[in-house]
Amino acid sequence: MTYDLVVVGGGIVGLATAMELLGRWPPLRLLLLEKEPQLASHQTSHNSGVLHSGIYYRPGSLKARTCVAGAKLMVEFCRAHGIPHELCGKVIVATDEAELPRLRSLLERGIANGVAGLSMLGPEGLRELEPHARGIAALHVPGAGLVNYRAVAEAMAELVRRRGGQIHTGARVTRLARQPGAWRIETTAGEMAAPHLIHCAGLQADRLTVMAGGPRDVRIIPFRGEYFELIPSRRGLVRNMIYPVPDPALPFLGVHFTRAIDGSIHAGPNAVLALKREGYRKQDISAADLGSLLTHPGFWRMTRRFWRTGMAELHRSLSKPAFVRSLQRLVPEVRAEDLVPAPGGVRAQAVNLEGALVDDFDLLAGQDAIHVRNVPSPAATASIRIGQMIADLAGSAFALAPPALAELPSATHAQ
Ligand SMILES: Cc1cc2nc3c(=O)[nH]c(=O)nc-3n(C[C@H](O)[C@H](O)[C@H](O)COP(=O)(O)OP(=O)(O)OC[C@H]3O[C@@H](n4cnc5c(N)ncnc54)[C@H](O)[C@@H]3O)c2cc1C
Repeated sequence: MTYDLVVVGGGIVGLATAMELLGRWPPLRLLLLEKEPQLASHQTSHNSGVLHSGIYYRPGSLKARTCVAGAKLMVEFCRAHGIPHELCGKVIVATDEAELPRLRSLLERGIANGVAGLSMLGPEGLRELEPHARGIAALHVPGAGLVNYRAVAEAMAELVRRRGGQIHTGARVTRLARQPGAWRIETTAGEMAAPHLIHCAGLQADRLTVMAGGPRDVRIIPFRGEYFELIPSRRGLVRNMIYPVPDPALPFLGVHFTRAIDGSIHAGPNAVLALKREGYRKQDISAADLGSLLTHPGFWRMTRRFWRTGMAELHRSLSKPAFVRSLQRLVPEVRAEDLVPAPGGVRAQAVNLEGALVDDFDLLAGQDAIHVRNVPSPAATASIRIGQMIADLAGSAFALAPPALAELPSATHAQ
């Protein structure tokens, strides 16, 4: 079975990439491989479902550029494909004086990144938007929204198929061998060949990079994000989304309240070191994943740097009262009995040899393979724009012929 190009990974980034490639190069014989029986089984369907606006990210970074542009593309895609979404806005709440400079710098970042409509609120303004939230100031982000990314991924998969792409689920890539002119791709569902390969493997990104002969310098460290859900009778405590001011040393946003598109209200996620990459319960451990953590020099350097934060996160994971106290800083009326556990997710976060959590997206193009090495949040929001960037990289790195049509179908339009 020979193809022009194989995409590994049926999460939102792999699907957006396949959708864009087929939109630009319609005759491409493209195969997408996904190891699970269902597409979008990992990060894409285990997240907060937030359409981020782009305020958090360093101006000029890939995260900033792709999030702002990607959020617009995502809204267009949802409109074109009838996917429920809502631009309900959110507030980021400062609860003490020490957080005010960080709140102001978020406003400045947002403006620098071109995020529209931002405004600072005092306690009264905050109460008008979120009557149960308390803070000394808040940043209102009207462009933030809600969407179900699994539904988005399903619509993308449908478009990939309609554009002539093939999708194999239940096909785990186990070995990649570079042979003259083509990759030999061994999978649990048989062997395939293609001259070009792009992997968007999320929690397995470092393993696929090494399999495809790429560098070994970053390792995926899994961080579990646990959630609680407000019981229906207490959903009135939150109208839309209430966030804390994040710690600028970490790429995580702090536990927050988000409304899902079905009306449920979730609180979380925390960020606890996970001992299994695709393990969603506290007790899940994988010897291979644990070994991969412990043998990475960057893991030990990260641990030395962040051990206090790590211990605090672990405490909040094991103690519901500690979790509730974090939430009460934002909404004092919330009580432990208002919250029931809800399914969590595991983030794929690349950590380098120095122990730094790789802050920006990392897309690495070689002559015959593109390695998508780090696409944590806001990559679901930004996925369509990331897919376009990967297609740009593929066009030049793989020397794909220029698109035949003068007027290309936009990836966002149904066709
Ligand atoms: C708790 C949490 C909350 C988040 N909240 C948000 C949010 O609100 N907004 C936002 O924009 N982003 C959010 N994110 C981030 C976002 O979900 C991810 O950045 C995004 O889903 C990444 O997509 P992906 O396709 O790279 O990864 P994934 O969805 O994990 O997909 C990777 C796929 O590759 C497959 N794969 C791996 N190895 C192989 C192999 N060997 N062979 C074949 N297939 C393979 C996997 O099975 C998987 O399906 C959140 C993430 C988490 C975990």
